[in-house]
Amino acid sequence: MTTDRAAWLKGESVFCDPAPPNLSRAWRLVLLGAPGVGKGTQAELLQEHYGGCHLSTGDIFRAAKSVPECEQTPAMTAALAYMQRGDLVPDTIVLAMVRERSRCLKCRGGFLLDGFPRTVGQAEALERTLKELGVKLDAVVSYELPMEEIVARIAGRRTCAKCRAIYHLTARPPKEAGRCDACAGELVQREDDRPEAVRVRLKAYESSTAPLVEYYRKLKLLVTVVAADGPAKTFQRTVSVLQKHG
Ligand code: AMP
Repeated sequence: MTTDRAAWLKGESVFCDPAPPNLSRAWRLVLLGAPGVGKGTQAELLQEHYGGCHLSTGDIFRAAKSVPECEQTPAMTAALAYMQRGDLVPDTIVLAMVRERSRCLKCRGGFLLDGFPRTVGQAEALERTLKELGVKLDAVVSYELPMEEIVARIAGRRTCAKCRAIYHLTARPPKEAGRCDACAGELVQREDDRPEAVRVRLKAYESSTAPLVEYYRKLKLLVTVVAADGPAKTFQRTVSVLQKHG
């Protein structure tokens, strides 16, 4: 199955792959971790393995950037300014966007939330929405990596402008420099991966998102995975820790 990370951006009219590959067990997961820790890459690998919807709020905001300015709503223009600085977008805007795609949360193949929730307020709102939909989270995977490694990863990260697949100049290089292996799209550096925005993002992570680790630990949903040894090893660890978690 090909992973179109942009699929759910197309909104309510687009349906998931009607036959996700692994329906024996539909996982409903949240992926947590600092920027650059590899959540997006793990989400791609996990989706290939388990199926289901991959929902990335960061992807939505990046896609919204390509909408001409005159067609953007004031809320969207404001959201993009937060993102460009590396700040978190206010909860009200994020929650409205997630609500528009709440059908993905009912996907029979499960879902992977990547980059959402990012604050305790968002986590509480997610809990309420899932309760309304009659759906339960299975686990929250927290990826852990030392800060110096995070900074190196962000500096080398490149993303396909077309299908949003993720590469790294040294750790996960494309076959042809600057071109996506999957769709031949141009590989670009994200605007918010520039050093000044990265500093703001890491601060936002520490103050707003790191507390979610404790939040989900208390709910007995948290599993932790060391993300230091490359995508394949991290993926194996994730699958094995999820099997144990049940
Ligand atoms: P990401 O690709 O997940 O690193 O997200 C890129 C940027 O989008 C973040 O730095 C935020 O500005 C914004 N963003 C994405 N998801 C959220 C969220 N759940 N809450 C607030 N801001 C978000």
